[in-house]
Amino acid sequence: MKKYLIFTCASIVLALFSLYAIYFCNLNTFTDVKLDSDVNIVLITIDTLRADHLSCYGYPRKTSPNIDKIAEKGIIFKNSIAPSSWTAPSMVSLFTSVYPINHGVIHGFVRDDTVLRQNIFSDELTTLTEILNTHGYTTFGVASNHHLSEKFGFARGFDYFKYLPSLPAQFVNKAIYSWESEIKRSDKFFLWIHYYDPHNPYAPRTPWIEHYTSKELTKKLKLYQKPMRSLEQLIPQLKKYPQALSNLIALYDSEINYVDYFIGLLMQKFELDKNTLIVITSDHGEEFLEHGYLCHAHKLYQESIKIPLIIQFPNRTKKETFEKHINLIDIMPNILHILDINPPEHILGKSFWEKKGLLWWAKHKLLKSQKINYNFSELDRNSILKTIMTSEWKYIYNYKDKTEQLYNIKADPLESNNLIDKKTEQRNQLKEQLFKWASTAKKYPTQKKLFQLPPKEKKKLENLGYIQ
Ligand SMILES: [Zn+2]
Repeated sequence: MKKYLIFTCASIVLALFSLYAIYFCNLNTFTDVKLDSDVNIVLITIDTLRADHLSCYGYPRKTSPNIDKIAEKGIIFKNSIAPSSWTAPSMVSLFTSVYPINHGVIHGFVRDDTVLRQNIFSDELTTLTEILNTHGYTTFGVASNHHLSEKFGFARGFDYFKYLPSLPAQFVNKAIYSWESEIKRSDKFFLWIHYYDPHNPYAPRTPWIEHYTSKELTKKLKLYQKPMRSLEQLIPQLKKYPQALSNLIALYDSEINYVDYFIGLLMQKFELDKNTLIVITSDHGEEFLEHGYLCHAHKLYQESIKIPLIIQFPNRTKKETFEKHINLIDIMPNILHILDINPPEHILGKSFWEKKGLLWWAKHKLLKSQKINYNFSELDRNSILKTIMTSEWKYIYNYKDKTEQLYNIKADPLESNNLIDKKTEQRNQLKEQLFKWASTAKKYPTQKKLFQLPPKEKKKLENLGYIQ
């Protein structure tokens, strides 16, 4: 009898252990995360940077030699998704680890250098910066984008914060250099840098532009320094002349080189290859007529939401890749996990480290959400779109005209073959999950609406399709 009991207990333990092992193997987790408690953290967000235009993501142009160097000793996340296709919702999600549907910062645009209709996210949502600050980090932030200023809550938790109204990388670096002694004096620091380039209007950045297109063509076409609305008026011509479209892409690529160059300077000046955790990512991608649009904030196709994510550890020396689909909202729990800091209750992002084991995951309700790894992204501009993705399937629903799309993003990464009427099982399953997610999402109150428009201006913008 005793023998039988021992055997049964041993079998149960073995079975549990196997389940545990299978579970974590399937999650594509990493194990050797050991960082000193005084490690510095640098979070670099590069506006409008699509993953597939970086050389370390396989782009044939050498757009990113300095980022590549960081990636050489880091982890490249091959399938990172932005929770929206424009700045404000995505960046609030990054800092709070909840989706735009939860934090409510979903509207807003810039008009004559003024941001209109952008809300402030709730104080109930503790930010990554606030948590690091309370754990002894001196916090520095430079944000170059109209949507990321103090008045919209982005300075929360920062000891030093500088907002730049969408200025190029050289001004961003200058702002960081002005804190050189404070940064070097800190026991440990968190530095967030938001570069605006390569957002439109694109500048022809030398010397790189000359590697990608001819000077004469750039001069003749004059596609540089054109804001989004002017570029969009040129769509019929760009469709007709492939040379013009490739010139536009060359301008965008030269902007990536430009920002990469300033990242290289920053790395050197602060010796960021030592005792520093570096995270590089973006807020959304950019469209070049793949689905008939230019720039961003129009749709949720992969060119708009597939972004780079690279993490370099001070004690890692080889390149690794991570294939599983993850979201920008996963960055906060992962940084906190690495630093052995408990995340706040509200987080929805997932961690992929197994350092703390099953109990930690269970405690933070991550097991439930990991059964199938759904990823979401949303946009509420001219159209109201939401998408749900697995590593194979992507379903998009338009809440305005009730149209649906379904793509097998594994077999058809360019989303050219809409399978909505052919794959009904996948469609129904994803649609159900998307609606369930949207209808049960916790909604935090936004603090207030800024800059109500005078009626005349409102009418004008409604006619242009900017607001409804
Ligand atoms: Zn942006």
